[in-house]
Amino acid sequence: MTVGVSLAAADVRHPFRSGFTLDVPRIEVPAGTTLALLGPSGSGKSTLLAVLGLLQTPARGRVLLDGEEVSTRDRRARLAMAAVFQRPYLFKGTVAANVEYGLSLRKVAREKRAQRVEMALERVGLAGFAARSVATLSGGEAQRVALARALVLEPRVLLLDEPLASLDPLLSRRLAADFATILRQDGVTVVWVTHDHDEARAVADDVAVMNAGQVVAHGPSADVMTLPADEWTAEFLGMEPPGHGVVTEAGEGLVHIACGAATEIVAAASYEPGTRVIFAVPPEDVLLATADARVGPLSARNRLRGTVVRIEPRGATWRVVAKVGETSLASMVSRAALDEMGLRVGEAAQVVFKATAVRVAAE
Ligand code: ADP
Ligand code: MG
Repeated sequence: MTVGVSLAAADVRHPFRSGFTLDVPRIEVPAGTTLALLGPSGSGKSTLLAVLGLLQTPARGRVLLDGEEVSTRDRRARLAMAAVFQRPYLFKGTVAANVEYGLSLRKVAREKRAQRVEMALERVGLAGFAARSVATLSGGEAQRVALARALVLEPRVLLLDEPLASLDPLLSRRLAADFATILRQDGVTVVWVTHDHDEARAVADDVAVMNAGQVVAHGPSADVMTLPADEWTAEFLGMEPPGHGVVTEAGEGLVHIACGAATEIVAAASYEPGTRVIFAVPPEDVLLATADARVGPLSARNRLRGTVVRIEPRGATWRVVAKVGETSLASMVSRAALDEMGLRVGEAAQVVFKATAVRVAAE
């Protein structure tokens, strides 16, 4: 068990000659939590990670480790960090030799090294692998070795740059869940770069979404991943764009939001009348039904008329998108339910959800 420390950067600006500029006024990772840097290729994730990890000095800006300003020249700060990359970069030899390497560089006594290597291998699920040649490892095992090699250093901060991106999807999903558990138990502070929003959901406490060198959304995963800040973020996260509306009535923890001609939704939130808001409803919380059916809990405050605009397969279920006024709302529907209701693109549907399911933010 290590104890992570907080990591932050402020006023970071780093232009490249290509015209790309990393521009991050503020980013924070509380001690012992995992932040996912999530964005498409070329959005600046690796550059920001390198700045946070003291591998690159930005043209402008500060990095704070445990509240103190640090730089790439700070040996102590650099020793507090370890990294895992997409490729494990193992050298020929045994698993133990690879995991031990950093300890010998740090001049840890030989007697202690073997014990720490063994513990690190156990933590990543590779007990008994010490004597194996790395040439015989699967891709997933090699990436576990890379994680052990970082954790054996007992870092206060761990940086991972798309650590699972070269593994097949099933394996990378499984490893993401495993790694997240290991890191949480370890207590280390983590910055995890990924382009995969499901991976970010699986591993992170907080998520920072990046686009074109900027952080366009940053907050608890449960907030960022359920209410996209704008159209771009929604599309990137595979969600419908947020609804836009104006609060018309407020009281007793509920607001009425007018959103398009003759359409109003009720949400559990507190905003003054007149406030412009964005909102979204997680697909898991939206029920669809034929126009006249009586469905959903009686307590569902929202029973709206909509039109089905898209039906898309998503694994074993179907994602059905209905337009309600100006707003698109998605729902996950089983094949059986889809058949039974006979929902078709262009036809009317009833869209039902509770006031407490609606996520709202001031625009
Ligand atoms: P990501 O990790 O999100 O894919 P990067 O941080 O690697 O993005 O890169 C962001 C942008 O900066 C890209 O356009 C990339 O080509 C450019 N870039 C990255 N490193 C350098 C560099 N050393 N010199 C010039 N341009 C770079
Ligand atoms: Mg990258």
